[in-house]
Amino acid sequence: MGSKEVSRGKKEKFSRLSSIKVARDLGKYLGFPLIQGRVKRAHFNCIIDKIKGRLADWKGKLLNKAGRITLAKSVLTSMPIYLMQNMWLPNATCMQIDKIVRQFIWGNQETGGSWNLINWNMVTRPRINGGLGVRETRFGNISLLGKLIWHLLNSPGKLWVQMLHKKYVKNQHLREGFMIRLGTGDVSIWYDKWLEFGKLASILPVVNISDTDMLVKDLWDDGQWNLESLSTVIPNDVRFGILAVPIPRDRNLKDCVVWENSMAGTYTPHLGYTWLLNKSRHMEDDTGKWHWLVKLKAIEKVKHLILLIFHGCLPTNTLRFRRRLTDNQGCPRCQFAVEDTWHCIRDCRRAWEVWKELGFVGTTNFLGGNTVDWIIQQVDSDQGHLFLSALWWI
Ligand SMILES: [Zn+2]
Repeated sequence: MGSKEVSRGKKEKFSRLSSIKVARDLGKYLGFPLIQGRVKRAHFNCIIDKIKGRLADWKGKLLNKAGRITLAKSVLTSMPIYLMQNMWLPNATCMQIDKIVRQFIWGNQETGGSWNLINWNMVTRPRINGGLGVRETRFGNISLLGKLIWHLLNSPGKLWVQMLHKKYVKNQHLREGFMIRLGTGDVSIWYDKWLEFGKLASILPVVNISDTDMLVKDLWDDGQWNLESLSTVIPNDVRFGILAVPIPRDRNLKDCVVWENSMAGTYTPHLGYTWLLNKSRHMEDDTGKWHWLVKLKAIEKVKHLILLIFHGCLPTNTLRFRRRLTDNQGCPRCQFAVEDTWHCIRDCRRAWEVWKELGFVGTTNFLGGNTVDWIIQQVDSDQGHLFLSALWWI
């Protein structure tokens, strides 16, 4: 291996003299591709091939959707981790991995086509927010690399840390998640992030020029905050935010970098991932039903069925009709003109017979309401287990 500038003749001569072979590609070392020059998508084809290979093993086996999701999560998203915790994967590679996962989850083995019941945004949401909890590769990669950054910030003595510091500490993605926990207070009042809501310099419209060099410890007066010495105008809400920060009693405590969203202050890839996801998407606060579903004691395929109903994505003929997958939105069981969710799970003559037989018809709350409340009420009743089995059977 030689750099591009070295001529072929020289390389061959060197090879003869040293009996070291000239190679175009350094190959892999401990499973890592050794890359010379720019990182290209092609360098990561090995991961893509591996994932595809692993999938091929599963192709012949019949798996229900819930099974596929579990498998996708455990196998597909964990396989590239080894690389992901050390290297920045090219975006194209991340997208390709996500695409394979997507196709695997929704792929229809009979027809080879696939039908996405829930959009990708939903698939990658945490389960507590009604998603399927599949990890998005880009964020997964960043959050794992965050572990390296964490080491960079907390063990400045290590040689590799010093080497990488300049190169990677500028990582934009996670930077806002780290903040300074005060010790001696030798950090800038304005330009360091020691308050949860961010750097003061980016919040306040103006910092008075006579204050610019001031450190946080300059605001400490005998264990109390004293903001009187400042010439900069601090709005009241910010002032209260500052006063709420405890002043460390221990004089020997050093200022240190912590991860803002953890109790212990330690960064973990999981915390980083959740943080990135929350930052990138606005998630509604309707976690009640999702929390209920996560906690529900039932087999996965039944939970998945309920998840689809909660999202209004049960593949009824009405839904398929709307997505132009069929030209008949009628019920195949009783020939009723419209097979919507309610019809499918309760109102169809065939379903109704089952509910009647089991004694559900006529009980309180069996009619009316919306599908979400209906299911929660029925499952939480004394007959909950019977209800779940019947729902699955129907
Ligand atoms: Zn019907």
